[in-house]
Order: sequence, then C-alpha cells, then structure tokens
Amino acid sequence: MRIELLPSSIPVTDSQFLVTFLVNQEIAIDGGSIGLLADLHRQERIKHVFITHEHLDHIATLPLFLENIYQPGPDCVEVLATADVLKFLHNDIFNGRVWPDFFQLSQPEDGFMNTAVLEPMQPVQRAGLTITPVVVAHGVETLGLVVDDGVSAVAFPSDTAPTKQIWEYLSSLKHLRAVFLEASFPASHAALAAATGHLCTTTFATEIKKLSADVRWIVVHRKARYAEQIASEIAAFGLTNVEFVQPGFAYEF
Ligand SMILES: [Zn+2]
Ligand SMILES: [Zn+2]
Repeated sequence: MRIELLPSSIPVTDSQFLVTFLVNQEIAIDGGSIGLLADLHRQERIKHVFITHEHLDHIATLPLFLENIYQPGPDCVEVLATADVLKFLHNDIFNGRVWPDFFQLSQPEDGFMNTAVLEPMQPVQRAGLTITPVVVAHGVETLGLVVDDGVSAVAFPSDTAPTKQIWEYLSSLKHLRAVFLEASFPASHAALAAATGHLCTTTFATEIKKLSADVRWIVVHRKARYAEQIASEIAAFGLTNVEFVQPGFAYEF
C-alpha cells in the first residue's frame, strides 16, 4: 500500500496546513490539499474521496479538485462521508453561492460527483481496499478510517481528542502496520487541545499506550506554529517507533 500526505505549504516543507492522504494514488482521505496537485493527471487518477469531517483543513480544496477533474460524461469521482457531512457540503459549500451546486448539477449521464454515505463500523470496498470508518472524539462527528489491502492495514484516526473505540478495533487487527496520529499542540496548550478536540503531546503519549501492537506511529497535524516544540517534546519521550510525517514522501506498507 502506497500512502502519501500531500504537501500543503509553499515551498514544500514539513509544515502541514491541510489534510489529504493519497492511498495507492486512487483514494483520497480528506480534501484539504487534494486540489493543489500541480500534475492534473494525478488529480484525475483519484476516484474516491473520503471526508472524515467538515472542518476546513479537511475540505479546503475539494471544490477546486472537483472542478479541476470534471469532464463531460458519466464517469465522475465519488465523495464518501457521513450523511451529515454530505449535507453540510451541500448546504454550506456547494450551495450555488460559495461554489456551484455540484450535487444538483450532477446527472447520471454527466456528473461532477457521486456520493456515498459512510456509517460507523460499516466497511466499504473501493479500489481493492477495505476501508472501515470508526468514530473518534473531535467535537464534531468525525470518522477515523482504517485502510486494509489484505496484507497490510493502516489507520488514520483523523482529528481526535483522547478516544477509545478505534484502539479497541485496531487491537483486533493482526496486520496493522502504521497509525498516522495527530499531535496538534504542545503540552503547554493541553487545555486548548481538550477544548478543540485534539491531542497535545501529553495526551498523544497516553493514546499510543492504548494499543499494544508493534506499529509505526507517524505524527501528523502539528499546528505549524508549534511544530518544532511538539517535535522536541515527543522526541524527549525516547520512543523508537514514533516518527514525524514527511509531506510528499511515498510510504510503502
Ligand atoms: Zn477537525
Ligand atoms: Zn484538522
């Protein structure tokens, strides 16, 4: 399984402002930086976009992406999310004001997008992968996603405060290879992290202890302003299986 966090800074650095993971070039998890790929052929290869929740860093360039790849005809990209998130996208983004109403403009013979509703703990099969949504704890309803190709499984808990169910589910997977886990704030901002439904470095350290499996922990979603502080605090834990995500790097599992 090939996984890449798309870069979202200019020039490309380790700073992360937006969230899009590409899985095997065909599936996107979140639409933060999806529309920024300069190579339009790479955008066209993406056939399924999973949206974990409606926060802006996870949907920012989804409207641009849908326009970038549109071609007249029946083939179009699929956007998968909870019914509520699809409703938010329709009412608040694709509403004919912020952006054209691609929901209504899409016809079976000429579509901008298809949609599919995700339900917690109801796996879906797309592009040879099984993707299982698991509810996490983020203030707004948010789905973590577990992607499984039969050989390797990789987890994307998305944005979350301390949570439980996804660790229980992951404990049952024998071939879990990696978790892309957020650490948004340094320890000094623990209260802000709790109030906004995120992890700080202290709660990051307690979360990873909830899973006993030997996996790679790849830190994502560091608030750019605190990125170095977060890195030094996590490095001080001395954990050998924790690393910091490199945007644009192709991870293989
Ligand atoms: Zn969020
Ligand atoms: Zn976020």
